[in-house]
Amino acid sequence: MATVQFFDTTLRDGEQTPGVNLYNTEKLQIAKQLEKLGVDVIEAGFPITSEGDFKSVVDISAIIKNTTVAGLARLKQADIDAVYEATKNAVHPRLHTFIATSDIHLKHKLKMSKEQVMESVKYLVAYGRNLFPDVEFSAEDATRTDKEYLAQIVEAAIRAGANVINIPDTVGFTNPVEYGNLFKYLRENVPSFDKAVFSCHCHDDLGMAVANSLAAVENGALQVESTINGIGERAGNAALEEVALALYTRKDYYNCEIGLNLSQIKSSSQLVSQLTGLAISKNKSIVGANVFSHEAGIHQDGVLKEPTTYEIIVPSLIGVTSNSLVLGKHSGRHAFAQHMKELGYELDDQQKDNLFIEFKKLTDTKKEITDEDLHALLSEQTVKIELPYDVDRMQLEVDSAKAIQKATVKIKNPNGEILEANAEGSGSIEALYKAIDKIFNIESRLKDYSIQAVTNGPDALAQVRAEIEHNGKIFIGVGISQDVMEASARAYVYALGKAKAV
Ligand SMILES: [Zn+2]
Repeated sequence: MATVQFFDTTLRDGEQTPGVNLYNTEKLQIAKQLEKLGVDVIEAGFPITSEGDFKSVVDISAIIKNTTVAGLARLKQADIDAVYEATKNAVHPRLHTFIATSDIHLKHKLKMSKEQVMESVKYLVAYGRNLFPDVEFSAEDATRTDKEYLAQIVEAAIRAGANVINIPDTVGFTNPVEYGNLFKYLRENVPSFDKAVFSCHCHDDLGMAVANSLAAVENGALQVESTINGIGERAGNAALEEVALALYTRKDYYNCEIGLNLSQIKSSSQLVSQLTGLAISKNKSIVGANVFSHEAGIHQDGVLKEPTTYEIIVPSLIGVTSNSLVLGKHSGRHAFAQHMKELGYELDDQQKDNLFIEFKKLTDTKKEITDEDLHALLSEQTVKIELPYDVDRMQLEVDSAKAIQKATVKIKNPNGEILEANAEGSGSIEALYKAIDKIFNIESRLKDYSIQAVTNGPDALAQVRAEIEHNGKIFIGVGISQDVMEASARAYVYALGKAKAV
């Protein structure tokens, strides 16, 4: 049985999601989590594009041991050299180089002829192969490329040394039958087809990214490019968890193996959501909060009698434990650590201590602590460690009878000093944010603000997302707390701290 490889591009294509702007340390956390999840390749970034991208590819290359680390390059010598420099210390480095092959891109973007593109492929893929043991070539906009020409380009790339060939649906244009047929066509018309691993890369503009990826696998693709939670350019990429669980659950149909550690799916999803500030909708396939709840009486009755009547995925398979009431006020440190382990988290002693303190604080005010709470607490905690600024204390004077509300905040700066400010506003959030603004003293504008309850009930944790603009760039901060105002302050301080750091 063939094994399908997972090439994760959360840190490259996913990071191109509008509004997403990850710190270097956040990228490292995600990379470590992806290694735990067992993806085959981590696309760490696009080194030539910025100093920050270069540095994060260097840092990820240094810490990842069991997964291939790829860097993206246009089919240009300087781009390829930058990937070489950035991935030098990786245990398994990969060059991922691309050039557009469709008429529309050749004419309007590259202003190159088909012959010129062909010459570049021959020369520069060979150049890359001299530097890297592992070279992936992508024909950008492949699904709108003339098929015959695409087959010639692919054959030339394999002969020049590419061992992985990616056929991206760059603009989310294709459909499953057509995309499947394209792989079939290449299998029949590329003489060296068997000398390379063929790969799919799908975008979700028409909502078919996952279906298209599966069609590619049915027709010989052995690598799937995807992102956690399906984040990415525009409508996003194929969601890793959806492709993975489709292949796993319907092994009888797809007839292939996957090497992922599926118990890490839920924690990976939660971490990426928290660090990118992109909330997961409750009905999102595989990782949404509702996917294992049954509302209809007949369904509830069925699941109680035999879970497989209405559940096709065992929750624990992806790191969701079945009982929602898991821990309470009297749970000890050991039970707590054991449960975190069951959820898929390996914590060091320091993390265990910090998290246990937060957990105990929460049990004082919240009766039922669910897995969703624990996932949220943990990602909040990991975020906190990385935060240069933190909310120390806040005080609000709110009186609905008055037109003006008052707020006082104390914020700890990176040197450990406590800075205090107060302000007034027509609403409590306005007063609070104005006070925080005084401390940061940078030009910024609040663009978006939203609150989501992590779980159900009046004592649920609140997750606040604040999006600000500073110097034309977007920064997102997320804060979690039982108190909405505190979560709001944390989210805003987080976003401003990021803005101030650049
Ligand atoms: Zn893409």
